[in-house]
Amino acid sequence: MPKVIIIGGGIAGMAAAVHLKAGAKVHDKQVDVLVLEKGGRIGGKILTEKIGDYLVEAGPDSFLPEKVQALHLARQVGLEPELLPSNDEFKGTFIFSGGKLHTLPEGVMLMVPTMFWPMVKTSLISWPGKLRMGMEMFIPKRKQQGDESLASFVTRRLGRECLEKIAEPLVAGIHTSNPDNMSVMSTFPRFLQMEQKSGSLIHGMISAMKNRPHATLSGPAKARPGAPKMTYFMSFRKGMQELSEACVTFVGKENVRLNAGVKAIEPKGKGYAVVLENGETLEADHVMLGTAAYDAAEMIREFAPEPAEHMKKIDWSSSGNISLAFRRADLNVKLKGFGFIVPKIENRRINAATYSSIKWSYRAPDDLVMMRIFMGGGNREDLVYDLDDKQMIQTVLEELDVIVGLKANPQFSRIYRWNRAMPKYTVGHMDRMALLDRLIDIHPGLHLIGCSYKGIGIGGCVAESQIAAEKILKS
Ligand SMILES: Cc1cc2nc3c(=O)[nH]c(=O)nc-3n(C[C@H](O)[C@H](O)[C@H](O)COP(=O)(O)OP(=O)(O)OC[C@H]3O[C@@H](n4cnc5c(N)ncnc54)[C@H](O)[C@@H]3O)c2cc1C
Repeated sequence: MPKVIIIGGGIAGMAAAVHLKAGAKVHDKQVDVLVLEKGGRIGGKILTEKIGDYLVEAGPDSFLPEKVQALHLARQVGLEPELLPSNDEFKGTFIFSGGKLHTLPEGVMLMVPTMFWPMVKTSLISWPGKLRMGMEMFIPKRKQQGDESLASFVTRRLGRECLEKIAEPLVAGIHTSNPDNMSVMSTFPRFLQMEQKSGSLIHGMISAMKNRPHATLSGPAKARPGAPKMTYFMSFRKGMQELSEACVTFVGKENVRLNAGVKAIEPKGKGYAVVLENGETLEADHVMLGTAAYDAAEMIREFAPEPAEHMKKIDWSSSGNISLAFRRADLNVKLKGFGFIVPKIENRRINAATYSSIKWSYRAPDDLVMMRIFMGGGNREDLVYDLDDKQMIQTVLEELDVIVGLKANPQFSRIYRWNRAMPKYTVGHMDRMALLDRLIDIHPGLHLIGCSYKGIGIGGCVAESQIAAEKILKS
């Protein structure tokens, strides 16, 4: 019976464990799986806290069902009845520009306009900027193949104004990255494919949308009869942590060890010896490294210095988020949509805010509004560490006053600081990962999983873990 040790109980590690357990039955194999987690809880960056009447997400607040692996995982571990759609009757994204909030024009998909009139009417983009965006349809496709920065790609196809007001806050913002060196090939390869296939992003996006049988979701992501409705973002009634907890139940608590930090891995026979921080040594045929690349590099550097060096070179960003709740009766402004984003060129001290209890049900009592405000992440990261909690809340309140005109005292606050939590997929990342794969393949039985490498969000992590687990099942 092959023994697999998974290091790290984040979603990547837990998805691998679920796939191994479920896949063993399909492949009619016995697989011994053990997850080792350094901390006292499972989930890693997925952390939901129930504080009084509030349900607060410290890390991710949703996943994209369009990336079907995460949705499939949720169903596999029995969470279909818990799936929570966003309250789309209130949806809308606002962009702060030139001192006021503008609606993101209807039909803008990530950064590509697909509808004519909303673009004509928007107050967000100047007339020369709108013309420049429209000209995208006539700009020849790039002859040179290969990776490109988001800034270069968007400026070339849609113009500088689209980059600064839409692509930077919306597209680079999701990745907490700097558009000047963020790799389009590793983050949104679809854009490069559209350019090559359709000659234009606008044409490519319109035809992609027409070919979808339903306006929002299709295929396995479509809601099944009797199941909760599907929205672009999905969560769970009791928060994202339900997903990692259901994975533990599926895998079996006896196969997950908490407070089991790994110090090093050493080759032993045809497999590996895993040395824990408490001095204990465990043996395995396969080891799946599901921690951040910089931690995993420390574990393997003695016997695999070359891949370890490459893993350490991956760059990371740090961010902070602050959940605040206000009494509805105290609000002096009407909050519109699901929240707003702030382009970097506006030089503000916050990047975005999500009105959590408007976007999602079950987050706060009806007479309160809870919101989550983001700081750092490629933009003024210094604030995440330089401000103490009181200063951070004060800064956020000042910014909410400038951006939304909100003047009210919060009834509740909770701050989370995430140190080196989001990897930056910079230009050339895919080539570097291909090289890393070749270097790791020299060590049979060693597998890299997690957000550091090929999938920055939950869907990507789950997908990559399933591929690695399948490789083990087939070996
Ligand atoms: C603030 C924030 C918001 C986000 N929002 C979204 C979102 O809305 N949607 C989305 O899809 N993605 C979002 N993401 C990204 C998403 O959370 C991550 O991609 C994903 O959770 C990463 O999972 P992982 O398993 O790779 O890593 P992690 O969750 O970091 O798990 C790694 C685990 O390894 C453990 N570990 C570390 N060292 C050791 C050791 N020596 N021994 C044993 N264990 C160890 C850690 O304790 C941790 O539990 C967000 C991220 C952040 C930080």
